[in-house]
Amino acid sequence: MAQNNTKMIASEASRMLHGASIPNVLYGWEAMNLAGVQTNSLEVELVVNDNTVQAAIAISQKFGQCTDSRCNELLVRRRNVESPQRLHYHPVPAAHYHMGNGQYLLSLFLKSAILWWLPDLQLGAPAPNDPYLTLPTDPSLPLPAVSGEWRNLHPITILKPGAFVDATILLFCRNACHHERLGALYSYMIAALCDSEPGTVKKTPRAEFQPAWDCFNGRFPAVTDPLSEMKLRQRLIERGDLGVLPPERGDEMNQ
Ligand SMILES: [Zn+2]
Repeated sequence: MAQNNTKMIASEASRMLHGASIPNVLYGWEAMNLAGVQTNSLEVELVVNDNTVQAAIAISQKFGQCTDSRCNELLVRRRNVESPQRLHYHPVPAAHYHMGNGQYLLSLFLKSAILWWLPDLQLGAPAPNDPYLTLPTDPSLPLPAVSGEWRNLHPITILKPGAFVDATILLFCRNACHHERLGALYSYMIAALCDSEPGTVKKTPRAEFQPAWDCFNGRFPAVTDPLSEMKLRQRLIERGDLGVLPPERGDEMNQ
């Protein structure tokens, strides 16, 4: 029931944004279901281009934007949360909406905060050969039963499973050693995505990330450097691929 509600919230929010010509893409724990990892998320996280975020917030007013300056959702580390530890941390969204008597959360994020490396989001269904984006009806997605639950809903844009891993590794690399709590969040997400256990869905990140992905999975082929993820991070920083890094010890700034 809860999962159906989150899908309906995601679908309806995406439909409204599309109706206002605002492209959007689903990321986060809910989106992870479509990457082959079943979660019980009660949160919907939609990412929009930075230059459309104000319009997105305006069009989402139907959901009732939370304006409580003391709201838990304005903290990277939520207070007094009884949920699993992985849900204690989250990036603070540009706007958020409590729904279903507070049981569900819809959040809007700037693309520069979450998916900065993606080309600008476009309206319309992703092309079949799009390297990063697809729809839940994509027959190549790993869990047809999960995809099928979206069949009659507004088609929401999602990341392909490999791109979902890419996104999470990039977020980990951006925040690790800078923002301890967000670094922890993305390490929890990577741990959930890992495919080293029998019966889990194999995922294929971009080739450059494969050695780090093997390390996260505890696989150490002869050619894999056990420090691959930290070397990848340093390489990405030097190339400017992580965008604007959070300030060192960013935790204190986001209590
Ligand atoms: Zn709130």
